Amino acid sequence: MKLILFGPPGAGKGTQAQYIVKNYNFFQLSTGDLLREEVEKKSLLGNKIEKIISKGDFVSDEIVNPLLINALKIQNKKKSIIFDGYPRNISQAKNLEKILDEINQKIDLVIFLKVSRETIQKRILGRITCQKCNMTFNEFFNQEEIKNHSCGKDNLKRRKDDNEETVITRYDTYMEKTKPVLDFYSDKEVFIEIDGGLKIEEITAKIDQILKV
Ligand code: AMP
Repeated sequence: MKLILFGPPGAGKGTQAQYIVKNYNFFQLSTGDLLREEVEKKSLLGNKIEKIISKGDFVSDEIVNPLLINALKIQNKKKSIIFDGYPRNISQAKNLEKILDEINQKIDLVIFLKVSRETIQKRILGRITCQKCNMTFNEFFNQEEIKNHSCGKDNLKRRKDDNEETVITRYDTYMEKTKPVLDFYSDKEVFIEIDGGLKIEEITAKIDQILKV
């Protein structure tokens, strides 16, 4: 199965993707993670990407598409995939259709997590991620879990692009540029909208209903 998890930054895509990976044996393909890996390498390309990401802008298709294609190539073709953070514009949506078509596959499901700007602000500004196990927490909502996290507090770091100014740009850029993508999928049968403002467990319960069929 090929699934797109769609929604603005902070909608909970990462959290829900982790749940689906663990419980339904999917592979998570996050273009944000691929870009951050490139930044970590401190290559020329990585430095260029870092500047774009830190401003909250979108990285160009010329940079993102090859990273996505490479990641798809090294994946077990039989494994189900969650696309997290891709597509973000119409040309990426069309590119994904084309790539999948070439290997006789298609998008089976698009889950849209719909969330307001206010909720996003609070979520992103509190978000911290464990460098070791990739789990995410929120400083406003998960104080106990943070205190008891088995990898230790020192591994919990805030993403560089999770600051107030960037958050607003990222949300607005997302809404402006991805609106056509939403329109592209929303009248297709594969499209399902979930209220991303619900609690994590309520969202996972809805996802269970969909994936367990
Ligand atoms: P994310 O981890 O999905 O929130 O992505 C973090 C940042 O990486 C975004 O704010 C963009 O700057 C960039 N990015 C991730 N995926 C894409 C994509 N498909 N197209 C363009 N830029 C992307």
